[in-house]
Amino acid sequence: MSSVIASDVGEHHPGPQTQERGQRAVFCGLTSIIWLHRRIQDAFFLVVGSRTCAHLIQSAAGVMIFAEPRFATAILGERDLAGMADCHEELDRVVSELIARRSGINRLFLVGSCPSEVIKLDLETAAAKLQVKHENRVRISAFSGSGIETTFTQGEDQCLKSTVAELPALGASEENLIVLGTVSDIVEDQFRRLFDDLDIKNVHFYPGRKAGDLPAVGKGTRVIAAQPFVGETARALIERGAELISAPFPLGAEGSKAWFEAVAEAYGVDSERTQQVLEMPYQRAKRAVSVHCSKLEGKRIHFLPDSQLEIPMARFLSEECGLSVNEIGTPFHDQLLMRGELARLPQDVPMVEGQDLDPALSRVRAARPDLTVCGMGIANALESEGLRTKWSIELVFSPVQGFDQAGDLAGLFAKPLAREEILEVGSWS
Ligand code: SF4
Repeated sequence: MSSVIASDVGEHHPGPQTQERGQRAVFCGLTSIIWLHRRIQDAFFLVVGSRTCAHLIQSAAGVMIFAEPRFATAILGERDLAGMADCHEELDRVVSELIARRSGINRLFLVGSCPSEVIKLDLETAAAKLQVKHENRVRISAFSGSGIETTFTQGEDQCLKSTVAELPALGASEENLIVLGTVSDIVEDQFRRLFDDLDIKNVHFYPGRKAGDLPAVGKGTRVIAAQPFVGETARALIERGAELISAPFPLGAEGSKAWFEAVAEAYGVDSERTQQVLEMPYQRAKRAVSVHCSKLEGKRIHFLPDSQLEIPMARFLSEECGLSVNEIGTPFHDQLLMRGELARLPQDVPMVEGQDLDPALSRVRAARPDLTVCGMGIANALESEGLRTKWSIELVFSPVQGFDQAGDLAGLFAKPLAREEILEVGSWS
């Protein structure tokens, strides 16, 4: 079943905009455990799900032979699914064993899945009960990674939102800045140096490297998103008094500059000082991007809905690399977080929110773009038809934010196009 509803899905995007509902091909929110467990180095993620869930997360993580991974799956058996066993008792036993065995774990996330949701296992209540039992040892909370009507990056949003209620209250006369959404450690270090140079103090990255790095929140809190898929957490922080700074995402030279400028302006930093601080990294980023531009300029790119990074990536590629954007498909268009992006998009790009796989693929086949950004499951089929692809999940796994990553980001898109040229030369000779 499918439907296409023409509607005004974008506040400021002047191009044609539609919504699609139908068959979807995206990973579920469990996938976000892969980058979350790397980021929060003392957290453990216990998926309550099926063997399928265990396989998904294991294959997404690759095979870890030497490290003891900080995620696992408590597998629901047939008796659990039939409602014949007491899942809570079993979960209690598994969690107690885990906590006894892993002394370095300070945070435990119980992660819901499609099977746990289907049998209506209330993991939030289970987490609250387990918290009482293990109060002095570990913080426990629950979030959903289920693939029912969601896409994979929403797992992070659910995870962070589950901890907002625990954030301490910010003092009445205090101010702080929360950078929201996972960035790699190296990106955090680079951003901290620039915030220091701008004299912006009391900056917190959420999530932090340690589970206990929880920022205070209140009327003096400003929030800036580093990732486009943290809308529910942003709204939860706004409900607790925080103010959201609207900006493009820190992708590419222009996006990173506009992102830092928006923060500096919110803090009343003198604009001359801001330009002085940003000029060198901005010029460096522009040079790094330009190295890849000869491969990218004039090429046509098509985004299938997958990661929620589609809108800012399309803006980066059209604004800085000279690509023309054929279509931007995005699983969800969060108007709150996309405010800073839409005005910078080319005027006539069609935007499609949601997914209906067959018509979406038909449009790709008809347009035959030079590059299609899509999920891993779709990429092989398109490649076999002679179309070049880029896995959108790679853009979430790689450090791509900020001035110093701008060249690498352009390189991620240039690589499949360069590969095609090599193949063409090879087949000619
Ligand atoms: S949570 Fe749902 S979509 Fe994800 S692996 Fe488990 S069953 Fe599949």
